[in-house]
Amino acid sequence: MSKNKDLINLTEKYGARNYHPLPIVLTHGEGVWVEDADGNRYMDMLSAYSALNHGHRHPRLIQALKDQADQITLTSRAFHNAQLGTFYEKLSELTGKEMILPMNTGAEAVETAIKTVRRWAYDVKKVPDNQAEIIVCEDNFHGRTVTTVSLSSNPEYTRGFGPLTPGFKIVPYGDLEALKAAITPNTAAFILEPIQGEAGVIVPPAGYLKSALEICKENNVLFVADEIQTGFGRTGQAFACDWEEVHPDMYIMGKALGGGVMPISAVAANNDILGVFEPGSHGSTFGGNPLACAVAIAALDVLAEDELPKRSRELGEYFKQELEKIQNPVVKEVRGKGLFIGMELHEKARPYCEALMAEGLLCKETHDNTIRFAPPLTITKEELDLALEKVRKIMA
Ligand code: PLP
Repeated sequence: MSKNKDLINLTEKYGARNYHPLPIVLTHGEGVWVEDADGNRYMDMLSAYSALNHGHRHPRLIQALKDQADQITLTSRAFHNAQLGTFYEKLSELTGKEMILPMNTGAEAVETAIKTVRRWAYDVKKVPDNQAEIIVCEDNFHGRTVTTVSLSSNPEYTRGFGPLTPGFKIVPYGDLEALKAAITPNTAAFILEPIQGEAGVIVPPAGYLKSALEICKENNVLFVADEIQTGFGRTGQAFACDWEEVHPDMYIMGKALGGGVMPISAVAANNDILGVFEPGSHGSTFGGNPLACAVAIAALDVLAEDELPKRSRELGEYFKQELEKIQNPVVKEVRGKGLFIGMELHEKARPYCEALMAEGLLCKETHDNTIRFAPPLTITKEELDLALEKVRKIMA
């Protein structure tokens, strides 16, 4: 009797049906490798939607978790804790920003960014009360809370959840003229993903980020980069904005910040922007907790010391070139940067993901037709070659 099946049946009996996972139960993970309840081994090519850039159970992250768990796990922000300051300092150094505000999930960090830029619009830019506008991009993904789905152009994300939060304008991704046309004196910010992840690894035209930043600067509009999925080495740079040497006014970060071990997210900006909060105006019981901060400190150290962005850049380039060599008319396009690669097909990707799973390679389709390849950045060349062998077997 398959343990996988029993465990899936139990989950399906009691769980809300808001996910459609591939039919395996993962019980162990180490590096790029995971094992299911029946003892089958797979290579993880999804990395929990890029939260596992450091691989499963990176020893230094697990040690940091254990050490901190033996000290104290939660203080709330009613008191100080011994990890928060170092966490701030390290993230400030990486982003080049003066201030950090910690939360737990990506969607909460996006909510924090929205609150920040709205307050900045009223207090600093002097936009009339309740008139602040935020520009976002078509096909964006910024999370699942009511306000973050209010940014979405995808009816699947919004149906039945109204009334949605007002104050957002949607422009096509990659279209500078549309951005210019959407800006009014009341525009607080332009929020975008530097590469759209959930939309299917969509890379904007070269120069788009830089020009969009200039347009924002000319109009006193804040340029806010949602690097939740693209950050921490995923695209071959510390942040995807680095590809165009763009320093956004604000970074939104999550996922790999906690090394796939603890949920932790944050926004980073300078004092003139993030200084709009005073005590009582924003917060979170678990935000900045010492356990998550201790893990994040270790995750930031490993990112630098193991040169994860460089690994991602070099191995990603090789992986993409090899995928591009696959001659199969079903493949429409291979695109991406670093180890963040989408293979778009002319037909549904799910059967291919299921076939790859049977070969021991875990991928997940995104937007029906795209297979996303995003392995842990700790993957070796040999492991990548093994993955390629399996992809070739299914796709060639
Ligand atoms: N923003 C981006 C770009 C994302 O890719 C995601 C998650 O996939 C989110 C926000 C939401 O993060 P979370 O699921 O942690 O709330």
